[in-house]
Amino acid sequence: MTIMNTQNIAVGFDGKSVLENLTLEVEKGQIISILGPNGSGKSTLLKVLSRNLKPDQGNVYLDGQNLTELSNKVIARKMAVLPQSPEAPKDLTVRDLVEYGRYPHQQWWQGKSQEDDECVSWALVQTGLEEMSDRIVSTLSGGERQRVWIAMALAQKPEILLLDEPTTYLDICHQLEIMELLAEFNRVHRITVAMVLHDINHAAQYSDCVVVLHQGKIFAVGRPQDVITSHTLRTVFGVESEIKIDNLGKPVVLITGLTKKRG
Ligand code: ADP
Ligand code: MG
Repeated sequence: MTIMNTQNIAVGFDGKSVLENLTLEVEKGQIISILGPNGSGKSTLLKVLSRNLKPDQGNVYLDGQNLTELSNKVIARKMAVLPQSPEAPKDLTVRDLVEYGRYPHQQWWQGKSQEDDECVSWALVQTGLEEMSDRIVSTLSGGERQRVWIAMALAQKPEILLLDEPTTYLDICHQLEIMELLAEFNRVHRITVAMVLHDINHAAQYSDCVVVLHQGKIFAVGRPQDVITSHTLRTVFGVESEIKIDNLGKPVVLITGLTKKRG
């Protein structure tokens, strides 16, 4: 079953095309990763999916409904978004920020409900932040801060979570911690995860589906083992690679050098 899809979306800036005629389906319950070189349009695609950017052409559907016909609140009850390098408002505690995730479920005349408090506490436990709930977000380490944003998204109780490079700037241990956390939400709570990743091996290990963007178009889409090939890496990223298939059938990539350009 499809939870989100785009039909022929196109985006350009200053006459320069960034996404061209892009049609994509996100299956409910899956983890889908978007890969591509810098400037290939990954963040632009994520912004279009989250209605933070209106495409010049084409449509985006959430559960079959056109995003343009849904209110922000209705969208936010289904979809949580973690942008690339988000910045927390100054002086907020961890709990304050996570509470923002409840906004789409609140009515202005009611304020905070018991359910809101329970969801916030649940999200703090899920992300291992209970002990830190009174800390000021800006004083946390990069890995901790990223978990706060993920907690905020979880408190929203979304069906689909969109993330733009959730592990960039983290050390390898904290990168894996975030990947494992997302995999668990997907497995245990059936949250669909669509994310932009830089690390090709993380995409290979954790995704059901990988989309490779190249010059604003989908170069390849499908299972990691079908999409992450030496041919893809050479053509799209300009690197040579050796690829092994591990015992779970997932590709493991070793980059061996730059592809030599002719001429
Ligand atoms: P990626 O996330 O894959 O690195 P982006 O989607 O951020 O790439 O950007 C794709 C291209 O679109 C880049 O060339 C970028 O400079 C351009 N671009 C993105 N947003 C804007 C904007 N608001 N105005 C002008 N150009 C933009
Ligand atoms: Mg980006």
